[in-house]
Amino acid sequence: MILLVTGVCYAAVAQEESEPSDTSWKEIYRETAPRINDLVHTKLDARFDFTKSYLNGKVWITLKPHFYPTDSLALDAKGMTIKKVEIVKGSSGSPLKFDYDGMTLNIKLNKTYKGAESYTIYIEYVAKPDEYTGKGSAAITDAKGLYFINPRGEEKDKPTQVWTQGETEGTSVWVPTIDRPNQKSTDEISMTVPEKFVTLSNGKLATQKKNSDGTRTDTWKMELPHAPYLFFMGAGEFTVVKDTYKGKEVSYYVEKEYGPVARKIFGHTPEMIAFYSKVLGVEYPWAKYSQIVGRDFVSGAMENTTATLHQESAQQNARELVDGNSWEGTIAHELFHHWFGDLVTSESWSNLTVNESFANFSQVLWFEHKYGKDRGDEENYNDMQGYLQSMSEKKDLVRFYYDDKEAMFDAVSYNKGGRILNMLRNYVGDSAFFRALNLYLTTNKFKAAEAHQLRLAFEEVTGKDMNWFWNQWYFSNGHPKLSIDYVYDDNAKKVSVIVKQTQTSGKVFKLPVAIDVYNGAKKVRHSVWVTNAVDTFTFSYTTRPELVNFDGDKILLAEKKDNKTLDNYVHQYKNAGLYLDRREAIDFASKNQDNPKAVAILKSSLKDKFFGLRTYALTKLDLKKETVKTEMESSIADIAKNDPKPTTRGTAIGLLGNYDKPEYRTLFSKSLTDSSYTVAGYALESLTKVDKEAGLAASKKMIASPAKGKLMGTMANVLIQSGDEGSFDAISKYFGDLPLSMAKISMLQPMSDYLAKLSETGKVKRGVDQIIEFREQVEKYGYAPVINNMLKSVVAKKETAKTAATDKASFQEQIDYIKAKIDSTKKGF
Ligand SMILES: [Zn+2]
Repeated sequence: MILLVTGVCYAAVAQEESEPSDTSWKEIYRETAPRINDLVHTKLDARFDFTKSYLNGKVWITLKPHFYPTDSLALDAKGMTIKKVEIVKGSSGSPLKFDYDGMTLNIKLNKTYKGAESYTIYIEYVAKPDEYTGKGSAAITDAKGLYFINPRGEEKDKPTQVWTQGETEGTSVWVPTIDRPNQKSTDEISMTVPEKFVTLSNGKLATQKKNSDGTRTDTWKMELPHAPYLFFMGAGEFTVVKDTYKGKEVSYYVEKEYGPVARKIFGHTPEMIAFYSKVLGVEYPWAKYSQIVGRDFVSGAMENTTATLHQESAQQNARELVDGNSWEGTIAHELFHHWFGDLVTSESWSNLTVNESFANFSQVLWFEHKYGKDRGDEENYNDMQGYLQSMSEKKDLVRFYYDDKEAMFDAVSYNKGGRILNMLRNYVGDSAFFRALNLYLTTNKFKAAEAHQLRLAFEEVTGKDMNWFWNQWYFSNGHPKLSIDYVYDDNAKKVSVIVKQTQTSGKVFKLPVAIDVYNGAKKVRHSVWVTNAVDTFTFSYTTRPELVNFDGDKILLAEKKDNKTLDNYVHQYKNAGLYLDRREAIDFASKNQDNPKAVAILKSSLKDKFFGLRTYALTKLDLKKETVKTEMESSIADIAKNDPKPTTRGTAIGLLGNYDKPEYRTLFSKSLTDSSYTVAGYALESLTKVDKEAGLAASKKMIASPAKGKLMGTMANVLIQSGDEGSFDAISKYFGDLPLSMAKISMLQPMSDYLAKLSETGKVKRGVDQIIEFREQVEKYGYAPVINNMLKSVVAKKETAKTAATDKASFQEQIDYIKAKIDSTKKGF
């Protein structure tokens, strides 16, 4: 699974940690689910009732006792009506006694079954997902398991769809099962749907049968065992675009209008499958690989075996794709789960990182392979920031004590886990690393595993004891905070590197580190171990080095205060070469923009070979300083006109708005119709900066035709700033169409400002309703108070406006309406 709105959920998690309302969970050891009976096979006949949003199900579940004989079976079955429970005997069945409390179906078997003696249970039931009130998580926004989207066709412009979300334990809302990650089952799922629908499930489509009532029954067969949380059903009107990988179907299910661009979005998939199969030495194990885009999906994306479900942000139009495919990392992430998660599954939610750290790390792996080391390193660095900003230093990576299993889906399991893998890879070397992953996968395939199995694989391959690494990173928490000083002694011709660990936890980390000593472009590497609170490493030299580069591979998961000089950084930018070497130099230079040497670093970085750093350097320029502004103008203008990357070009055009010259104004106007939304959006921003009226006029003209991305965001902002009432419908549609994302969150403040300016009561109410609808979606992240505060400031502005207005009544109506909506916040989490 991939996180949805990371910034929000991290903030909420941090808030929760500081103010625990109930800490009794800290006493509960979350043991791995006991295995009394094991799933063997699940055969489901699912019929959807769109009128009631019910599923009428018949299921045949084959099981066997795990080891000890047993005469009873407990199945998870959440919020269902159970109509019949039988033991299957040949072609008939005989009823069994059962107890059902709405959560667990306790069945008394017809006899005591011995270990390995299989039996089949038949159950008839009705699943009622909309009536089940399970709790969601930060990573998923609900836990209904089965979702009917616009089932009765009441919402205009929204297709009717059905899809499922199993992780963590939602599958048992739609099919009785043992809903634990340490269970595995083959399955056969039949879905009866309106004939115009296409269906998708795990494995291969075995049969399709037309029924006399205008429906069709599709039967999907999954011949390899996988965990119940990976069971999937999806149905709706989709265009299916097909590729292949070694004769296996690779397909993309998208809404019709995205059919022509489906390959631009998902088309790297076969190449990704080939790359991951090769690097892991484990061929893609499943019968096919499909990806489907669902409306109103409650997570970012989910790795259901052979049937990954993506949220609608995946569907980008041709112009959005000019700026690059924003969903490529997610596509890689879900695919990699087909080895780490689907083939070998975390045995418990405590060990979730053996799924998620790999999926997270796979994004670095793919970007590095496809676009070069700089792009991979950028991904790694950004993900490390995600962890560092999450304020989760106290959480162990593998956690046996947690409040809710859903809380495991956080920046520790994902981002920190991913960085730890990258450090491990650096420590043991690429060939040992991938050999160990191969051993872990082949030893544990079609089974569940925990972090120790990973350790054993690494110990087997490398011949090294790895307990220190696992104890420090997997079964403990925090990260090192390092202060690094360099002392040169030209008389003794020695340089000392003093490394202090300044974390307040009292913990001292053991870190293998490379220290590179540079004379000119030539470097000598010293591999050392940091093991104490303070360590000093001394190296002799004949000529004083221009740079001593601590953490030469820029691999540490750490916060570093690296006390280098500007001259060191000049040398580092030119000679050390890694993404982070250059980025650190840009960071240091950006804080010293009065110094010509620093400005020179920034100027060179505008020509950096990697567009990510060119863009980054642009954003660091302090154009309020006249010297910098003058010095950089030609470079910025050059990028604005010629850079091959639209996002970099757009950023430069955005900066040119600081120079009011006719020549640039022409460029802005011309760029409004650029194929890249980013370029056009920045052009509009700059045009508005130098000529407000022209920017507003252009926005009013362009808002009539649909846009997305930076262009749409800028148009909306320009119109919102102007308070233009005539644009309300377009702005409201834009806000409404944004999926749950950071982009939507950042629109909240401008939307509130806009509502404060609008005078028409009907529009104000509609806008408030939209914000409230969003508030309900993000309430569980603890975000409701923030939104309520925004609405309160709208009320305050309306109160002020009312005093000067002639029509006081309509202002009062707006105020009363907003106040009532603020008070409607649901209580509790
Ligand atoms: Zn994931």
